[in-house]
Amino acid sequence: MLKGFFHVPKAVNEPVKSYAPNSPEKAAVQAAYTTLWNSQIDVPLYIGSEEIRTGNTKTISAPHDHKHIVGKYHLAEKQHIEKAIANALEARKAWADMAWEQRAAIFLKAAELIAGPYRARINAATMIGQSKNIHQAEIDASCELIDFLRYNVEFMTQIYNDQPKSDSTVWNRVEYRPLEGFIYAITPFNFTAIAANLPASAAMMGNVVVWKPSDSQVFSAKIIIDVFKEAGVPDGVINVVFGDALMITDTVLASRDFAGVHFTGSTHVFKDIWAKIGANIHHYKTYPRIVGETGGKDFIIAHPSANVKQVTTGITRGAFEFQGQKCSAASRAYIPQSLWPAVKEQLIADVKSMKMGSPEDFGNFITAVIHEGSFDKLASYIDQAKKDADAEIIVGGNYDKSVGYFIEPTVIVTTNPKYTTMETELFGPVITIYVYENAKWEETLELVDTTSEYALTGAVFSQDRYAIEVATTKLQNAAGNFYINDKPTGAVVGMQPFGGARASGTNDKAGSALNLLRWASPRTIKETFVTPEDYRYPFLG
Ligand code: NAD
Repeated sequence: MLKGFFHVPKAVNEPVKSYAPNSPEKAAVQAAYTTLWNSQIDVPLYIGSEEIRTGNTKTISAPHDHKHIVGKYHLAEKQHIEKAIANALEARKAWADMAWEQRAAIFLKAAELIAGPYRARINAATMIGQSKNIHQAEIDASCELIDFLRYNVEFMTQIYNDQPKSDSTVWNRVEYRPLEGFIYAITPFNFTAIAANLPASAAMMGNVVVWKPSDSQVFSAKIIIDVFKEAGVPDGVINVVFGDALMITDTVLASRDFAGVHFTGSTHVFKDIWAKIGANIHHYKTYPRIVGETGGKDFIIAHPSANVKQVTTGITRGAFEFQGQKCSAASRAYIPQSLWPAVKEQLIADVKSMKMGSPEDFGNFITAVIHEGSFDKLASYIDQAKKDADAEIIVGGNYDKSVGYFIEPTVIVTTNPKYTTMETELFGPVITIYVYENAKWEETLELVDTTSEYALTGAVFSQDRYAIEVATTKLQNAAGNFYINDKPTGAVVGMQPFGGARASGTNDKAGSALNLLRWASPRTIKETFVTPEDYRYPFLG
């Protein structure tokens, strides 16, 4: 064990590169894109020191060109999940005891590998496998992931530094132990950064992990695994398995050593997992930690004093970047009658100017949605809106899956504030707008608060400070991330800790010390220097 109280480098946010024409980063990512586009990767299960190829495989293709195959990945059977758990528990013996600064060094190195030698590759993999345009790939796969790693290392040291009082007679210490058992990380398709962060944050705190990535994110998951390996994450600390989500989850939750789940994905899946943990509770060695960030029905509300261009840009960027496939994406908006004609005109013009196609063409703002299931679901809601008397599509509304899963950015206007697309998370480039009477500002805030089961993000646009104050108060529980005069997406690690309550999750704020605390089990150590040797207190006379 090294002697010294060490300070980690001060965390700084990774600057977002521009990818402007002729920039070196643009050339680098285009070259990486071409290489990966022409590759045939073969992704095994990573269990302990082994790479296991089961032979039972699924192909990986690009959502914007779904017939183009870029590789395959191997699917686990039950025995592989049991093996992954056994390997994790074996690795725990050394990992849980390793000095924290060694763990910190591994994840700081991972951050710098992504910032430098892996940047173009992880961005290109995210562009191909998840159909992000270069800006969306850069702010996710590079910047947010680098920030998660750097800041979490700093937060870990803040946690370790948080120590109780002592006096001259006793010395009190709190040791932040990893949880006793292993952590199960289940990750979504839509953020490469989240996919890496859910296993990494738990591992950083000394835990061992079984990680199940989304079937729709395997291409960039492979790069994350390569980075973790090169950074020095020891074998068995993060075991990666792919395959039948139900089978994997049931096998994991059946283990007596299951100590926690770190989940991001849809609400119904998380609730099912919670219920299963409850049903198994008598079986576990310890109460499992349950951390989940789930769906959203994120809102924008404009006050009559708002600036039209700012509101419209909040809607276009907030609703349509990455095809609306962000948990934070604006998907319902409330616009006052007085502003509506101008907002409508600008919105239609802006949406019509958006180019849609492959992320390889940097001029495309919109690319494809993630898979056929999502495409079909979105198409059916759009078709229904075309039929419903209380809904009107004012721009967009077309879709085509012949080459890729392309859905036009679509704006629905409804006269019914409880219309289905005002309440239901669609997870695509569709926003629904309700136009309210100017005099009904407070009633409309009430509608915003009560219309959906979620409470993830929301934004108010206003130039009137009283209106901002009323909205901030009335919508206190409507969003875990609340924005004033800004779009409700794009939270930055270290600046806007992210997460929501109600049906949106446990609100443990990814990218903050609050989240890391969930992966520690504090042990209090009291040491008495002069220990009593007689039971009699003075009051006994
Ligand atoms: P999803 O729920 O379909 O999948 C998430 C993960 O759960 C995947 O790994 C999937 O394979 C697994 N899974 C699916 N069914 C399962 C089951 N029955 N048991 C166990 N695991 C199962 O979600 P997705 O489509 O990948 O991601 C989109 C969802 O994630 C949206 O609802 C979005 O709002 C949410 N999300 C939330 C946040 C947040 O921070 N709140 C961030 C990103 C995404």
